[in-house]
Amino acid sequence: MPEIETIDLAIVGGGPAGLTAALYGARARAKTVVFESNLPGGQIVTTDHVENYPGFPDGISGTELGDLMHQQAEKFGAEFRTFASIARIEPDGSDFLVTNTEDETVRAHAVILATGAVPTKLGVPGEAEFTGRGVSWCATCDGAFFRDKTVAVIGGGDAAVEEAMFLTKFASKVYIVHRRDQLRATKCIQEKCFANDKIEMKWSRTVAEIIGTDGRVSAVRLASTKGEPDEVLPVDGVFVFVGVAPKSSLVKDLCELDDAGYVKVDRNGLTSYPGLYAAGDVTDSQLKQVITAAGDGAVAAFEALKWIDERLCSI
Ligand code: NAP
Repeated sequence: MPEIETIDLAIVGGGPAGLTAALYGARARAKTVVFESNLPGGQIVTTDHVENYPGFPDGISGTELGDLMHQQAEKFGAEFRTFASIARIEPDGSDFLVTNTEDETVRAHAVILATGAVPTKLGVPGEAEFTGRGVSWCATCDGAFFRDKTVAVIGGGDAAVEEAMFLTKFASKVYIVHRRDQLRATKCIQEKCFANDKIEMKWSRTVAEIIGTDGRVSAVRLASTKGEPDEVLPVDGVFVFVGVAPKSSLVKDLCELDDAGYVKVDRNGLTSYPGLYAAGDVTDSQLKQVITAAGDGAVAAFEALKWIDERLCSI
């Protein structure tokens, strides 16, 4: 049997948390490998404009920010293994065996889980059927297909409101459909939204059904949360931003998760399993931002390396 490659730090996930952890691991001269099932960058690559990451007073595109973080980690020696998902993380003594879907395994002295979160689905009729045919979870990817068209954005958080504003670059009309009569989004994002005359709010409404004609979205049926009659709103596209769910299934049998599936961590990013750390949107931290993900990644890497050093020195 071929000998299993041994590394210091396995980082699962290449978003801002994983990329920052990789930067700190590589700068400490630890053998650091990032495993990413896609291209590095994480969820921010689907964000048109990031304006709350310090150091960029005019904002920066999510793709560019992700790319810069990737370059910086690589420059200091972090290694990237992309386009193969990690299938298993298993303890092996005080190390971990990290195995991808191609059955390739590495032994790591510590693991940082930075797998992030995935967009939640609405779970209404028509959503699955018209995905890619008018239903989308990425305005940056699909917005340009809706030039001079009418779209509905579902949700009232930062993502929904920011992406609705981005869509006004293309669409002639953008409805924001929100289940309450108050947005959850950050106030300064709300102010810009209310000043945009292409956006119309559909307050206190949920999507009951996505309706199609000739295989594409043609309308949404909206139900009232205040007992008013349903409304059929003709639209060409539906963009869904109703929150995210953590990608924590890899560690669900290893460490403690909260009721919503987020990985419980202490202030050092340590999970309930020794040597297993987590950072960014997959954790139970309250604030989910690029800056906090990056900060979490730095802390988790620092603590993981300290843990490895203490262990190896005591052998
Ligand atoms: P979020 O903050 O959890 O907001 C989800 C929105 O969808 C809420 O308005 C919620 O309504 C609504 N919603 C949830 N389930 C629904 C359903 N079944 N039907 C209809 N509406 C539903 O999620 P997010 O906007 O995706 O953001 C995720 C995290 O990333 C947040 O922590 C956010 O701050 C962060 N983020 C930050 C930025 C930024 O800083 N620029 C940008 C994007 C995301 P209620 O309000 O009634 O609960």
